[in-house]
Amino acid sequence: MTFDVVVVGGGSAGCVAAARLSSTGRLNVLLVEAGPDYGGLEDLPADVADSSAPTTDHDWGFVSEPDEAGRVTSLPRGRLMGGCSATNGAFLMRAWPQDFDRWVTAGNPGWSFDELLPWLRDLENDADDHDGWHGRCGPVPVRRTAYDELAPVHRAFVDSARAIGHPLVLDHNHPPRDRGRPVAAQRA
Ligand SMILES: Cc1cc2nc3c(=O)[nH]c(=O)nc-3n(C[C@H](O)[C@H](O)[C@H](O)COP(=O)(O)OP(=O)(O)OC[C@H]3O[C@@H](n4cnc5c(N)ncnc54)[C@H](O)[C@@H]3O)c2cc1C
Repeated sequence: MTFDVVVVGGGSAGCVAAARLSSTGRLNVLLVEAGPDYGGLEDLPADVADSSAPTTDHDWGFVSEPDEAGRVTSLPRGRLMGGCSATNGAFLMRAWPQDFDRWVTAGNPGWSFDELLPWLRDLENDADDHDGWHGRCGPVPVRRTAYDELAPVHRAFVDSARAIGHPLVLDHNHPPRDRGRPVAAQRA
């Protein structure tokens, strides 16, 4: 069997690249992944299914070089189809508009936030979008955890932050118009 393209690594980037390249049916694409492929959500082993616990059996086991005191830090990296996307916290954060705009300033036309926004929207299937800022038809389901869904410890954290004056941010991916500040502060 011959292939037009070989994608090495079925992680976040590799899966998207292989899916897009093969979607027209014109290219024969081989996706090579070092770890297992479990297919559906219901088949996931416990250490992958529970994102609040560290992944044990599906990790490369990398650690940092020791620092001056000899301490090492674990550097988790998923080893399975989906890569780190299969083991990560599943938080969806767009980069800040000013980060994209810096790419343009560095000589990369076409990478401004305004030019990329349609692509960011196309990724999302946002259940909470009310003003068209987000996408509703993309492959990535997005929802925000409601206050009453939070665990007591998380609720206490939110309450404490609000009590000392931090505003509640309902959508971290909705920048303010002036784009000069990092977060959209929408007061509840
Ligand atoms: C614990 C953790 C939590 C995170 N939480 C979030 C989050 O909530 N939100 C967010 O946006 N990002 C999060 N991230 C970051 C995000 O998951 C990564 O930036 C992203 O998945 C990296 O994608 P990638 O395609 O570059 O690499 P990976 O997804 O790591 O994919 C690399 C793939 O290549 C495979 N591979 C490596 N070498 C070979 C080889 N020689 N042959 C075959 N296959 C090989 C690996 O097994 C792996 O599947 C988190 C990351 C970690 C580790």
